[in-house]
Amino acid sequence: MPQNGDINKTFGVYKNLCCGLEIVLNEGARFPDCPNHPKLTTLWKPMAGERFPRASELPSAKKKRNDPAA
Ligand SMILES: [Zn+2]
Repeated sequence: MPQNGDINKTFGVYKNLCCGLEIVLNEGARFPDCPNHPKLTTLWKPMAGERFPRASELPSAKKKRNDPAA
């Protein structure tokens, strides 16, 4: 798993493990420190397949069971 200071090899969304902060990082960019933990190692987990989801593709977990639109 990449950490702060590493060079990103794959454009995408990454989430840090300490704070759950999500960022979009370009290929070739350096993984940043966590703003809350600048002196610690920050691990960035790739969020595969979660890049710019469309409304129709949002996970059903975001829907309430009693959908008011239904
Ligand atoms: Zn943090």
